[in-house]
Amino acid sequence: MDMWEKITSLAKRRGFIFPGSEIYGGLAGTWDYGPLGVELKRNIKNEFWKSMVQERSDVAGLDAAIIMNPKVWEASGHLTSFSDPLVECKKCHHRFRADQLTEKKCPDCGGDLTEPKQFNLMVETYLGVIEGEKLKTYLRGEITQGVHVNFKNILSSTRVKIPFGVAQIGKAFRNEITPGGFTFRSREFEQMELQYYVKPDLKESMEQFEYWKKERMGWYVSLGMKKENLRFKEHAKDELAHYAKAAFDIEYNAEGEWKEMEGVHHRGDWDVRRHQEFSGEDMTYFDEETKEKFLPHIIETSGGVDRATLFFLMNAYKEEKVKDGEIRTVLRLHPRLAPYKVAVFPLLANKPELVKTAKKIYDDLKKNMMVAWDDRGNIGKRYRAQDEAGTPFCVTVDFDSLEHDDVTVRDRDTMKQERVKIGELGTHLEERLKQS
Ligand code: ATP
Repeated sequence: MDMWEKITSLAKRRGFIFPGSEIYGGLAGTWDYGPLGVELKRNIKNEFWKSMVQERSDVAGLDAAIIMNPKVWEASGHLTSFSDPLVECKKCHHRFRADQLTEKKCPDCGGDLTEPKQFNLMVETYLGVIEGEKLKTYLRGEITQGVHVNFKNILSSTRVKIPFGVAQIGKAFRNEITPGGFTFRSREFEQMELQYYVKPDLKESMEQFEYWKKERMGWYVSLGMKKENLRFKEHAKDELAHYAKAAFDIEYNAEGEWKEMEGVHHRGDWDVRRHQEFSGEDMTYFDEETKEKFLPHIIETSGGVDRATLFFLMNAYKEEKVKDGEIRTVLRLHPRLAPYKVAVFPLLANKPELVKTAKKIYDDLKKNMMVAWDDRGNIGKRYRAQDEAGTPFCVTVDFDSLEHDDVTVRDRDTMKQERVKIGELGTHLEERLKQS
């Protein structure tokens, strides 16, 4: 099995990610996050929010609507330019993205392909109740535009001064021609973005661009992604999106294949200029200090939450030889990302006094963190199950616990065990989680 298959199978087996609508045969490009996956994904989003909004004074948050006035997409250029080149096999009728093919023949059956035609990725939807009068609109193809249409609202409702940013996390939809690579290319996915407004000054805006490149790369590393598995990839001039002045991708080395995880883009003043033109609203910014009036330039960092989740899983996945030649599968997830921070076990499920003490510990710890409970099988098996879920610590209540008021705390990474007093357990765990 290669790493993609291993991750897909672990994700399904342990409840990280399931194929969407599976009992109906699935729906290509859609995925459901299970009990462990929803925690991991939420932790990633919380870490993004903490570093981009909570810990900064120059960034505000926003949660805009998924469905917007269709004029937004005319203005942003999505209705004319948000497309990929589509080719179809004349024999088996399978469809492919022309820019992703290395051969001129169908990769599935060797048949001849049609000439490429541009295929728009926007997902259409209709609002209203009266047939024939329904408004055709779109599920947003990127979360970006929700920020730019609120530029004036942010200015009037807060005290932000340029340079400042607006961060947002939310769903986006694209009618991808070839969804695949597990969650890598989905038709419904989540993005986490920053739109940072700066003066229309090339030198200053490029400095900001470099700053945000470094910040975003540093964020992935701070959460445990190995530096050697990350790189910047510059977009060549002919690859730049219709609005972009400069663009770099942050790529992850997925088993030898470099894949885009996040984009850092210099968008110029494209968005505000176009919205000003199409809406008729004045989108200029007035600088109190210099008394200048201008359309700001925008530096964007646009990451995929699902791609980050997938690559954090890949980055953490290890198969390690333990004693007696046994192999353990362990997710060495950063503790801040781990779905459960700790698991609590009574040594034996049929000893009420052990269960009672363990239950009390479980209930107490749950007030402050996500805690798993397991009372099935032997302790070794329970450790292995938590290793696979990425749980940093396991706590076992045994007969000594009843006499000495202490428990065994076992570390996921070193597999070392130590005794800790029950009264000190909460603080002990919080300290160790903080240190990691
Ligand atoms: P690609 O070239 O892979 O299609 P893109 O350059 O079109 O991606 P952007 O429009 O820059 O992507 O979107 C920003 C981020 O959103 C990407 O870096 C990626 O993490 C995420 N993203 C984009 N499309 C998808 C998708 N179909 N499924 C999952 N995540 C996606």
